Order: sequence, then structure tokens, then C-alpha cells
Amino acid sequence: MALIVQKYGGTSVGNPERIKNVAKRVAKFQAQGHQVVVVVSAMSGETNKLIALAKEVQANPDPRELDAIMSTGEQVTTGLLSMALMDIGCKAKSYTGGQVKVLTDSTHTKARILSIDEANMRRDLDAGNVIVVAGFQGVDEHGNITTLGRGGSDTSGVALAAALKADECQIYTDVDGVYTTDPRVVPEAKKLDTITFEEMLEMASLGSKVLQIRSVEFAGKYKVKLRVLSSFQEEGEGTLITVEEDKKMEQPIISGIAFNRDEAKLTVLGVPDTPGIAYQILGAIADANIDVDMIIQNVGHDDTTDFSFTVNRGDFAKAQAILEDVKTKMGAREVTGDSKICKVSAVGVGMRSHPGVASKMFKALADEGINIKMISTSEIKISVVLDEKYLELAVRVLHRTFELDQ
Ligand code: ADP
Ligand code: ASP
Ligand code: MG
Repeated sequence: MALIVQKYGGTSVGNPERIKNVAKRVAKFQAQGHQVVVVVSAMSGETNKLIALAKEVQANPDPRELDAIMSTGEQVTTGLLSMALMDIGCKAKSYTGGQVKVLTDSTHTKARILSIDEANMRRDLDAGNVIVVAGFQGVDEHGNITTLGRGGSDTSGVALAAALKADECQIYTDVDGVYTTDPRVVPEAKKLDTITFEEMLEMASLGSKVLQIRSVEFAGKYKVKLRVLSSFQEEGEGTLITVEEDKKMEQPIISGIAFNRDEAKLTVLGVPDTPGIAYQILGAIADANIDVDMIIQNVGHDDTTDFSFTVNRGDFAKAQAILEDVKTKMGAREVTGDSKICKVSAVGVGMRSHPGVASKMFKALADEGINIKMISTSEIKISVVLDEKYLELAVRVLHRTFELDQ
């Protein structure tokens, strides 16, 4: 007998019929003698609808209240799936994040999980129940409802698997595994049987939303066996996220192409070139809880320099307003911004032992007349910032250049 945590995403529970199908799948696992904890997302489109609704009432929604609103989507699914399970003869019980208790910090809309109390779930599991938990949500020390950031149900699933020391965490979604790139952009993309944590972490952080980055971090840290599978296919092993590189096979240099459409670039021009400017600029941004991605400080001239960085597009307006303030305080010349950019990245642990990947990538883009605005590299990835209109073309070209369609 194994203890399995299964997470079903929005499309997989998108209508009553699909919820009934999920119930059948869960029941099958239980009938095989396994204990099953199911983590569910809101039905597809619901979270977006709830956010839009909130914005109709308050243009810039209060974060605590937005969490109260957004968390209802998942709660609906837990009740529906529990009922569907009961209807086919399974004992089932729904739980909100607060009922579990998934304790988080108080950073509304992007809270971090601090601890999970698995005692109640364990008791109900031992009594023969399927446990259906609302993903994406938790509760802070004061009892406020929090949410974990978009795509956060993946993290709920992995965190529950870690807390329960589950044998496996299965992420059921609308594709049958992790691909060399998003199969919706490149139909020739190939499914990977395995991908290392390191690579998956990069892919997720660089925009492949098949897994939320925090879920991969969590799985790596707590050694959770993590697999991505299709909720629409009966057969298939999906993609296993592994600790070890597959030594048996000739390691490809590049494992995947990731991209992110949600980027925006900000530049502070004519910054006095003195110690502490990076801190003054980025400190103010960090204080507002805005994540910064790529950072470039240009060579100074005439005792001034230009300082650029990228943020999530959703934080663009807020960051721009903060920089206007910083500009005045530090006597910089101007703040400029570009919210029509994207980031495309090539990821692969094979890069470590193969020089020349960057030049191959830049040549492929140049041959298509695509201008690169920013570059950043690490040991296992190369990212470029491009005009957003080149996104699809760049992804396709790089996928082909690194022979990922072979
Ligand atoms: P869910 O609602 O199940 O959480 P998501 O929409 O969050 O599903 O994630 C699944 C989607 O991720 C797929 O439909 C696919 O378009 C996208 N995706 C992006 N990059 C990849 C990739 N490398 N492999 C597989 N899917 C990817
Ligand atoms: N429903 C949430 C979202 O749409 C969380 C999730 O689906 O993982 O972001
Ligand atoms: Mg998701």
C-alpha cells in the first residue's frame, strides 16, 4: 500500500464531467489499496474570473481581500470532487487550506508555506477516506486566508506530499509530461521521460508554467518523488523529475527551451556613479515585494551610469512609480520602461561540458534578424530578452537549432 498525493489542475477539473472522471481515476487508485490525497485547482478560468470581479469593485484590490476572493475557486472544486467520489462509493472529505492547516507567512497573494499539520488528514485517511484538499491556499498565524501565487496548487500538492511523506506526488495536467518546450507553441516538441530537478527548476523559473517553481524547490528540498502526467490519458509514465542525470544516455546539451511573456524592462538613466546605487534602486523595489530578474549596470561615463532590470509585467506600473521617487531622491536623469518584451531561454546541464552554446544561440537568432536586448547566463542556462513579437519565432528557431525535435 502506498500513500499518493495527486494534484489535478484547472483544465482537468474544468466541468462536472471532468470532475467525475477525476473521481473515477482516484477511486481506481484507492481500489488498488492505496491511500490517496487529492489536491485540486479551481475549475479552469475561475481564478481569472474572480480576479476580474475583484477589480471591477476595486481597481487595485486589497491583497487580503483578494486572497479571500481567489481562494473560493479551489474550495468549490473540493466540494464537487468529494461529492463525485461519494457518488461512486468512495468515502471522501474536503478540506480548505485552513482546515488542514497549511500555515503560511502573511505575504498575501504570494505567501510561502511554513508548516503543514497532517494529523487530521492522517486520521481521516486511516478511516478509509479520500482526502480532497484545496490547492493554492493557506492560512497565516492570525487566521487570515492566504494564496501561494499563480499556479500555486502544484506547490500545495508537493508540500502535502512532503508533510505526509507520500510515496509519490503526481501532478495531473492537460499535457502528458514535461516537453522540450511548450507543445502549444512548438508542436514538434518532444516529451521527456525524465528531467533533473536542476533543469526543471530553471525551466519553471524561466517561464514553463507546467510546474510552479516553488513546487520544484520544495520537491528538491524534501526529496519528494515528483511526476507530471496527463489527466486525460489512461496510459503513460509521464515525466519523472530526477535527482541524477541519466548517465546511460548521451546527455543532450540542451534539454529544453523556456519562455516568459510576462516580462517588463525598466531603466534608470543618468544615475550618479557612486557606491550604493544598486542598493538604493533595488532596495526600494524589494521593499515593495517586487521580484527582480535580470540586472544590467552599464559602464559609467561622465560620472553617471544607466541601470536596467526586468520585473514581472504585473509589477511594471508599481515599479515605475517607485523608480520615479528614487530618481528624484538620487538625482538621476530619467526613468524609461518597456513592457513589450519577452524572455527566451535555453536550459541544459549538458552546457557545463560543452562550450559554444551561447554563440550557437546568438547566431541562430541573428540569422532570423532578431535583436537581443539583454543577455544573462548561468552554468546551465542562457536567457535573452527580446521584443515580444519575436517570441514564437525565437522559440521555434532555437528548438530546431538545438535539435530538440529529433
Ligand atoms: P494546470 O492547470 O494543470 O496546472 P497549467 O496550464 O498550469 O496546467 O500547465 C500546463 C501547461 O503548461 C500546458 O498546457 C502547456 O501549454 C504549458 N507548458 C509550458 N511549457 C511546457 C513544457 N516544457 N512542457 C509541458 N507543458 C508546458
Ligand atoms: N487556481 C490558481 C491559479 O489559477 C492556482 C492553480 O491553478 O494552481 O493560478
Ligand atoms: Mg498550473
